[in-house]
Amino acid sequence: MTLLERGEAGAESSWAGGGIVSPLLPWDYAEPLSRLALLSMTAYSDWIAAIEAQSGMRAEYWRCGMQVREVAEPDAALAWCQAHGLAAQREPAQSDGTLWLPDIAQVRNPRLVAALREAVTRLGGVIHTHCAVESVSSQGRRMVAVHTLKGTYTADQFVLATGAWAGSALPNLPAMPNIRPIRGQMLLFKLEAGVLDTIVYRNGLYLIPRRDGHVLVGSTLEDVGFDKSTDDPTRLRLHAEAAELLPALADVQPVQHWAGLRPGSPDNIPIIDRHPDFENVFINAGHYRYGVTLAPASAELLIDLIEGNTPALDAEPYSWASALARSWEK
Ligand SMILES: Cc1cc2nc3c(=O)[nH]c(=O)nc-3n(C[C@H](O)[C@H](O)[C@H](O)COP(=O)(O)OP(=O)(O)OC[C@H]3O[C@@H](n4cnc5c(N)ncnc54)[C@H](O)[C@@H]3O)c2cc1C
Repeated sequence: MTLLERGEAGAESSWAGGGIVSPLLPWDYAEPLSRLALLSMTAYSDWIAAIEAQSGMRAEYWRCGMQVREVAEPDAALAWCQAHGLAAQREPAQSDGTLWLPDIAQVRNPRLVAALREAVTRLGGVIHTHCAVESVSSQGRRMVAVHTLKGTYTADQFVLATGAWAGSALPNLPAMPNIRPIRGQMLLFKLEAGVLDTIVYRNGLYLIPRRDGHVLVGSTLEDVGFDKSTDDPTRLRLHAEAAELLPALADVQPVQHWAGLRPGSPDNIPIIDRHPDFENVFINAGHYRYGVTLAPASAELLIDLIEGNTPALDAEPYSWASALARSWEK
């Protein structure tokens, strides 16, 4: 296995995100997203254990639970959770429609990508960084090579997993339908360990505690193209809203502020399919807000498609054709 990466491997959206292993409001999404997410969430701890064993590195998977405040329709949300086998209960101490989801987990995503890099290498894979694919060549319906400034690489099979850039065409390679970058800004704080020990969500804003006392605050959804800049008004707003949820944050300054580019897709449904133009090219892209969550089930589906196995779930919603039919305009 050879991985060609334009920058550093795992340094874009997969590094920038928060690492919550769940949709933020699980009951708010189309069924195809929920099915893939719930499959992944069930598989996650075993998947992490396998990566940790292979790499000898820790990814800090932590079933810390998630408190969701001000749920608009808590009874409907509870019914959805019950129907989908997701543990959820009302927080009796809170009067504002707060739900407690005890099984929601998180992973420290920068550590997960580091462990994945190590596992790939130990398994004999080769990672070429600073090696952007600039164009491809084909013969009939087969891709035969990809071209980079560092040389040409041939393979029997190719997987395109180019995140937010999947929506941009390359010479001889069309853009994937409806994928576009959606910027998210994040803040990082450092408190004493144990000040916060669960994910807290309210009205688009979330706090994620790490075991060592770091607290992440996110995020924004900005349709601004390939621009990873951050801005002070957003920093001040995120900080103020976070301090309302956790007053200990009021008097500390963030230790870091960054932005990442999510691979946005309508309805947050990724494309996991064989390429329509090439029989030996496969796609795994467009995971939008939940690519860390969706990773294990997406990889399983991708492998089933490559190997010709019957997938564990109906693959049609993740097809190129279904992505073409979806639209950002609602
Ligand atoms: C602020 C923020 C918060 C988030 N929070 C969460 C969360 O809590 N939980 C969750 O599940 N998800 C979260 N996400 C979403 C998640 O991070 C993404 O869905 C996921 O990382 C996408 O993974 P990917 O591999 O498709 O894209 P990326 O991680 O962006 O990887 C794509 C890679 O392809 C490379 N590439 C592109 N073009 C080429 C080329 N031509 N040649 C070679 N290499 C190329 C890029 O350099 C990049 O490294 C968050 C994202 C952001 C930005």
